[in-house]
Amino acid sequence: MSQFPDAHFLTSANHVSQLVADEGAEIAFAGRSNAGKSSAINTLVNRRQFARTSKTPGRTQLINFFALAPTKRLVDLPGYGFARVAPKVQQHWQSLMEAYFSDRRSLAGVFLIVDIRRGIGDFDEQMISFAEALQIPVHALLTKSDKLKRGAAATALLQARKVLAGRGTAQLFSSLQRSGVEEAVDQLIDMLNPDAAA
Ligand code: GDP
Repeated sequence: MSQFPDAHFLTSANHVSQLVADEGAEIAFAGRSNAGKSSAINTLVNRRQFARTSKTPGRTQLINFFALAPTKRLVDLPGYGFARVAPKVQQHWQSLMEAYFSDRRSLAGVFLIVDIRRGIGDFDEQMISFAEALQIPVHALLTKSDKLKRGAAATALLQARKVLAGRGTAQLFSSLQRSGVEEAVDQLIDMLNPDAAA
């Protein structure tokens, strides 16, 4: 069963002028291309093809907005870290991210999607810095945890927590095995409701 039965795609933005009205609360999903972000979103919303829009050619470099519930949104940020991306595309990504993170009152938290085998990288660090500047929480999903044996996964989790060093939380996650889903959904709901009593 989905915690977000009414979830649906809202719109895509290629420029700050196209962002959804800055009201309510939203959580941004950021991650290196191929980290498993779309799969994680589909798993959390419990709909097989939910983040399909974000994979549509021409939309991969856009900010894609989804409604999870009235006034609650999930924001799929464009993936980063392509090895050979044109400088123009890279610059556009950089300026779009800076514009989005510079002034977004409804942004209540960041889900950082990290391939467990790669760990937290430079672009991820940039996302963490954006979140720190806005004083919003970061939660890292170490995806594809099924690819590592239990001990290695535990080590990777410790390492990620060390790198985060109090700047965020982290957990193991696998879309393939549907593991870590409840913990992640709870975290997502908590971030979307920052004023709710703990
Ligand atoms: P995105 O580019 O970050 O949106 O990544 P995708 O969700 O498209 O996933 C990239 C690749 O990793 C695809 O081939 C997925 O099937 C695979 N993948 C995603 N999540 C998992 C997972 O939890 N376990 C495994 N083994 N593969 C995964």
